[in-house]
Amino acid sequence: MAVTRTFSIIKPDATRRNLTGAVTKMLEEAGLRVVASKRIQMTRKQAEGFYAVHKERPFFGELVDFMISGPVVVQVLEGEDAVKRNRDVMGATNPADADEGTIRKTYAESIEANSVHGSDSDENAKIEIDFFFNEDEIVG
Ligand code: GDP
Ligand code: MG
Repeated sequence: MAVTRTFSIIKPDATRRNLTGAVTKMLEEAGLRVVASKRIQMTRKQAEGFYAVHKERPFFGELVDFMISGPVVVQVLEGEDAVKRNRDVMGATNPADADEGTIRKTYAESIEANSVHGSDSDENAKIEIDFFFNEDEIVG
């Protein structure tokens, strides 16, 4: 299995509850390495651009409001089969459906305030990493 990269966000519900370290620990324990990380306040424009694939969904406006409601931590994660490894440790979108031991089961507040984002394919991982990071900010 190849070492690949994925893109992660620790969302405002988690930074608000001071869970940056706790969430990162779960990512690391799942075999992912943080090779870039920064805490940012997303602008509305950034959030709308990042989630443009969801713009027709009924919750788009609420999702954008939530993602700019406080700081987030954007990260690049590296590991074997990183996209799947990260999705597995994140758990299902709705914490009510997430498996025990996943980040969302452990920490998410709701289907919206679900503590973490993770890319869903290698292709989208590259697009999302490029959206927030320059290559010289990533140190493997
Ligand atoms: P993910 O890939 O598991 O994060 O899920 P999606 O790509 O389907 O959705 C993106 C994000 O939109 C989710 O992580 C949630 O924060 C939010 N979201 C998804 N479904 C709903 C919903 O039904 N209502 C609301 N308010 N937010 C949602
Ligand atoms: Mg998604």
